[in-house]
Amino acid sequence: REEEEEAEGTEEEEQPQTRLTYNIVFVTAEAAPYSKTGGLGDVCGSLPIALATRGHRVMVVSPRYLNGDSDKNFANAVDVGRRIKIPCFGGEQEVTFFHEYRAGVDWVFVDHFCYHRDGNPYGDRYGAFGDNQFRFTLLCYAACEAPLVLPLGGYIYGQNCLFLVNDWHASLVPVLLGAKYRPYGVYKDARSILVIHNLAHQGVEAATTYQNLGLPSEWYGALEWVFPPWARTHALDKGEAVNILKGAIVTADRIVTVSQGYSWEITTVEGGHGLNELLSSRKSVLNGITNGIDVDDWDPASDKFIPFHYSIDDLSGKAQCKAALQKELGLAIRPDCPLIGFIGRLDYQKGTDLIKLALPELLQDDIQFIMLGSGDPDTEDWMRSAESTYREKFRGWVGFNVSISHRITAGCDILLMPSRFEPCGLNQLYAMRYGTVPVVHCTGGLRDTVEDFHPFAEEGSGQGSGWTFSPLSKDSMLGALTMAIETFREHKSSWEGLMKRGMSRDFTWDSAAAQYEQIFEWVFVDPP
Ligand code: ADP
Repeated sequence: REEEEEAEGTEEEEQPQTRLTYNIVFVTAEAAPYSKTGGLGDVCGSLPIALATRGHRVMVVSPRYLNGDSDKNFANAVDVGRRIKIPCFGGEQEVTFFHEYRAGVDWVFVDHFCYHRDGNPYGDRYGAFGDNQFRFTLLCYAACEAPLVLPLGGYIYGQNCLFLVNDWHASLVPVLLGAKYRPYGVYKDARSILVIHNLAHQGVEAATTYQNLGLPSEWYGALEWVFPPWARTHALDKGEAVNILKGAIVTADRIVTVSQGYSWEITTVEGGHGLNELLSSRKSVLNGITNGIDVDDWDPASDKFIPFHYSIDDLSGKAQCKAALQKELGLAIRPDCPLIGFIGRLDYQKGTDLIKLALPELLQDDIQFIMLGSGDPDTEDWMRSAESTYREKFRGWVGFNVSISHRITAGCDILLMPSRFEPCGLNQLYAMRYGTVPVVHCTGGLRDTVEDFHPFAEEGSGQGSGWTFSPLSKDSMLGALTMAIETFREHKSSWEGLMKRGMSRDFTWDSAAAQYEQIFEWVFVDPP
């Protein structure tokens, strides 16, 4: 009997927990591999698949960008044969939908000629496109219609869905649900979650553009934004504007940021980009979930972009990757010389000005440095000129190149990320998975994911997976780099420990997806 009871007990324990499943609609300006300029693309390319694998029905709605180079990315997406008319910007705009079913996810691409132009999703070499408000308003209207009208896999998603709206480009969605659908009894039971990947971009335009959005006048308050006096351009400027991201902050059912550290930072004056008070007022529905990474795309044991493969059990391939990278870059092939990398948008956020400032001093040491990035034209020019000044030690690769980014991640010893703020940051996660030790500014997601190295007396032991530095200054960055370089040179077994601890971390999307599910449950079961 006892045995029987024990057996029953075990059976009970082994019962899988029933999880609720949802119809989820991601709305995003980018989704890799179709479009990507940064982490937003990576997340919206991976998280939907992780959620679909866990049993949810998932659709991702984003624009069909055609610019010659990117056309091939959309080659498998077919015209669904539905056109809708969107009432905004003083007329009716007609859009169509393309669809590809891949990895268990419905990838839906909104097609309109405003998405067919040279450049990246937001701009070209002359700067941001002047009609971005129009382009992303269309995206939001189309995303609200997609679950109602598109017969995907034979039947429509319907009204009872959960919108995950990403950053300002998708932030009109919860406003539209409240202003244009619910008053007519549509989407009464739908919910929306705003996911903030970067608070610095808010979709702010002159107040007069409100009339273009096709919203009832009584909803103006949701988007109303008044610049503080110091940010106004001239005496007559009253600072009146519309702020699309603010619209979602006040109307979405819940808010998620891409790390816990960042969810706190955005409620502070220093990190709130003017929205800290508003975000603080929504603290009870604000959570942080650290991004995962695509561990198939980013796997040193099988990565298609790197010339040699390796794993935590056999690191010899990493040394070969380093030699191959040095050769590719025309640097001296020297295993003993610390190779430091930087990958990222050339933007004030990423702290590239600090690298600029510190480089002459850093290069006095016997090291090599490779920078990959595109963005700010002055920084691009500086990278080109630094390359000719420091021919023996520095390479500046200007451009957006996924393949070289993998080879840098694999071939470098150290990855530097002096970001001013970093909502999550993915490169430090890729680096750790590849046994490349991150040296990062102690902020946002970097602070959450890089554990500081604490050496113990005994050679080879210690804890942590990299170095974090603070404050954000040349000297503190150089101090952290010096410690990393010294450990690399003088304490080989400690270095190997650092590499291996980073490589053994769990970066899969599964745990993040489970945390998102918890939020989904709260948003439906326990609405704020
Ligand atoms: P952010 O989203 O702020 O740009 P993240 O670290 O979250 O920063 O994500 C950046 C993503 O973009 C990473 O996948 C990174 O490898 C990629 N990336 C950034 N710049 C480049 C580049 N010049 N070439 C290739 N990939 C890049």
